[in-house]
Amino acid sequence: MKRSITIIGSGVGGLAVGCRLAALGHQVTIYERNSRPGGKAAGVNLESYWLDSGPTILRMPHLISDLFSKAPEDIRQQLQLNQLPLHYRVYESSGGRCLDVYQEPEQTRNSIAQISPEDARRYDAFQHETARIYRNNLQLEPERTNGGMQKIKSGIGRSLSSAVPVLQATYAQFVERHFSHPLIQGGFLFHPIFFGQNPYTSPDKIAMIHAIERQWGIAYLQGGMRNLVRLLVDYFQRLSGKLYLGTAVDQIEVAKDRVTGIRLQDGEFRQADYIISNLSPYQTQARLIRTGPKPIQAGPKFGCSFLVMYLVVRDIPHREKLNLHTIIHPDGFSNNMQSVFHTDRFASSPWIYIYFPGVIESQATDDGTETMVVITPLPNLSLIEHTSKEMLTIRRKVLSALNTLLPGFEETIVHEKITSPRLLQETYDMDWGTHYQPIRPLLIDRLFFSGDSVWRGLGLVSALASAEEISRQISNE
Ligand SMILES: Cc1cc2nc3c(=O)[nH]c(=O)nc-3n(C[C@H](O)[C@H](O)[C@H](O)COP(=O)(O)OP(=O)(O)OC[C@H]3O[C@@H](n4cnc5c(N)ncnc54)[C@H](O)[C@@H]3O)c2cc1C
Repeated sequence: MKRSITIIGSGVGGLAVGCRLAALGHQVTIYERNSRPGGKAAGVNLESYWLDSGPTILRMPHLISDLFSKAPEDIRQQLQLNQLPLHYRVYESSGGRCLDVYQEPEQTRNSIAQISPEDARRYDAFQHETARIYRNNLQLEPERTNGGMQKIKSGIGRSLSSAVPVLQATYAQFVERHFSHPLIQGGFLFHPIFFGQNPYTSPDKIAMIHAIERQWGIAYLQGGMRNLVRLLVDYFQRLSGKLYLGTAVDQIEVAKDRVTGIRLQDGEFRQADYIISNLSPYQTQARLIRTGPKPIQAGPKFGCSFLVMYLVVRDIPHREKLNLHTIIHPDGFSNNMQSVFHTDRFASSPWIYIYFPGVIESQATDDGTETMVVITPLPNLSLIEHTSKEMLTIRRKVLSALNTLLPGFEETIVHEKITSPRLLQETYDMDWGTHYQPIRPLLIDRLFFSGDSVWRGLGLVSALASAEEISRQISNE
């Protein structure tokens, strides 16, 4: 039966579920508050440059190919996903030694051996254990890709969302049991930070991400991730989906515990059989649901927030030291994480992630400038206010670490834009920090949540997988 479906928000999670449902013949309308679609993936403007604003690491890239599998030929041709053989480069804070983590285990083992032959000998056991956790959680072989596809996609989200440790250990204990050298530990410890979680309190089952990365690789999209948004919008509109930009939804109307429609900011009511909110469940409840039962029962537990620096640089020194994804692993990492997740203090030497697209595609302009994004985790806004003065202190610490890795780096900055936790919250409606809630609230019928807040872990993977799960559930009703 064809339904009238309203989606609030045009982030990747909103657009992806819109494409899936429109492809099934439903009448789908997306309302986007901003004048530009894409939410966190829309891109950010810095002088005359347009940078990727959010997602850069693309795990399980087949989720995207799968979403576009029935798209018109010309759209599919523009979707160029490339595998990245060298996944991460992780430096110690002196900027001296680095660990390279590849998709190919042999290459990773060789890189570990340069730093710690003893840890290199343990790498096989680490691989086996991560693959076992992955299999146990999904109850299927990593090799079983076709028939088990649906299970993999929804299974990963569900599994990572459960807080029960597989081995009754934390993720950090799991990594530290396998490796003893601090830099090697650092090369495998950081994954929970990407989704705002503390490696020292996260469950060990997060280790399955290593198996996922080995199995499916990490990909990047030619032309940057904002290209994904452009292609999703094109596909959605060709499926006769309607996208209203600059049109904020003010309220979700609920009657007898079932959604009836939405009310726009000018007061106009629009009926809908189903409503899918691309805002986080917490934001949906706080801002859009005024009457009837509350969809979230327990109070959210927030993870960390971030400082994001968007940079235009010219002639950076030691450019060859950078990979697409480069990490600076500080000394005293556990104290650093303690500061980020449990205190209102800033770590003395920050953990830093650098995204440098110039490594994979030439962005060279006539004047030799390139773009770069630098991210560091910070205590969330419920722990600390994050004033402008504090942001300047953090900026100084970040630049000092970058200057150590790439001496003279600071002088190469031509433009910069600093996005504080407060600005992230204002720009992207982010919560105080990250948190996760189920895809479907128990007490309100025909309401769904799509996006990266519903399944812990993998950003775009959660957004794309939730889109597929919602379209499956609506189709089955
Ligand atoms: C700095 C940064 C780095 C990241 N790096 C990665 C990465 O490397 N890999 C990865 O997989 N993920 C990454 N992520 C996460 C990734 O950006 C998201 O998972 C992805 O963009 C999906 O977002 P979403 O669908 O949940 O919705 P969002 O992008 O949050 O979109 C929600 C949309 O709803 C709109 N909206 C809000 N209120 C209303 C209203 N009242 N009415 C109408 N519209 C409304 C907003 O304007 C927005 O467009 C990163 C995020 C950030 C911030």
